[in-house]
Amino acid sequence: MKIAVFAGDGIGPEVTQEAVRVLKALGLPGLELVEGDVGGAAWRKHGHPLPEATLEIARAADAILFGAVGDFECDGLERHLRPEQAILGLRKELGLFANLRPARVFAGLESHSALRPEVAGAIDLLIVRELNGDVYFGEKGIDDLPGGGRRGWDMMSYTDAEVRRIAHVGFKAAQGRNGKLCSVDKANVLETSQVWRDTVIEVAAEYPDVELSHMYVDNAAMQLVKNPGAFDVIVTGNLFGDILSDQASMCVGSIGLLASASMAVGTKGLYEPIHGSAPDIAGKGLANPMATILSAAMLLRHSFGLEAEAARIEAAVAKALADGIFGGDLGGSYGTAAIGDAVLERL
Ligand code: ATP
Ligand code: MG
Repeated sequence: MKIAVFAGDGIGPEVTQEAVRVLKALGLPGLELVEGDVGGAAWRKHGHPLPEATLEIARAADAILFGAVGDFECDGLERHLRPEQAILGLRKELGLFANLRPARVFAGLESHSALRPEVAGAIDLLIVRELNGDVYFGEKGIDDLPGGGRRGWDMMSYTDAEVRRIAHVGFKAAQGRNGKLCSVDKANVLETSQVWRDTVIEVAAEYPDVELSHMYVDNAAMQLVKNPGAFDVIVTGNLFGDILSDQASMCVGSIGLLASASMAVGTKGLYEPIHGSAPDIAGKGLANPMATILSAAMLLRHSFGLEAEAARIEAAVAKALADGIFGGDLGGSYGTAAIGDAVLERL
């Protein structure tokens, strides 16, 4: 099993190092870790945020563990040289079309949520967001109007093939969890959503063991705050997923604990914490590595089918949290290495 490790910028290298320690501690047979440069770190060394050598490592790997990219000193550079291009380029190059974001409140952390503790405590959901289509990638433009003024426009579109592909990811994820899939759209107003809904219903025939429901996005936003415990897996388009996944993260309330996966066709995937490079705390050993450690657990589950090992890591993190091992993001005083140690001890 070949895993590319792209630590990147800011707190990226610190948090990634702890996740690598955890992966190594599992004693997985045939584990091979290959490091590569991305982001501002790569630009400094090679003059490009996503050098060809890094792309080659990514192509040859089964999965990628990604830290974070972001570098103030690159602010003035042309767009294609900015650190963020590393993640956008990898998405494109590897065909990563599905973004998976679990949101869960660990026992004892209910009070960190913006929601009432009893509501927050029930959150254990997964958002599956389509990444390659929708209004972000449609035709777009800004027209000058004949009578003065301007009109901006962005074309929203989904083909049934694009919907089918992401629907399968949603149904399979639901099979691996509690068997409930909620498809979120705006089918009362949008033709895109009509194709979305029809296609999801068609795909559902292949998953008789999954209970499918449909929800309009406005209602979904409301239910995520009102009764988030009712959701298991949510599958939705790029725009709605972008908004709902950030909303769900904040319902959980701890940026240092949230992992994510971006999947291609097959099992290749890129795994990263949802937080960024956090320049304000970089290099100080203060960052909470749990989000990256949990990303490594997702990597084992989704790219290698190692459910038991993934669950072992998640249980170790949950145990550390239950024992009060809190990083600065949770108002605690544990640093990066101490949290890594605590998770390893409980593994
Ligand atoms: P970027 O531009 O790379 O996204 P950012 O400035 O938006 O960077 P984020 O990484 O998104 O920063 O973090 C937002 C805030 O949360 C920062 O103040 C940061 O210190 C804090 N934070 C982020 N990740 C962690 C972490 N793993 N542990 C502790 N605090 C964190
Ligand atoms: Mg950010």
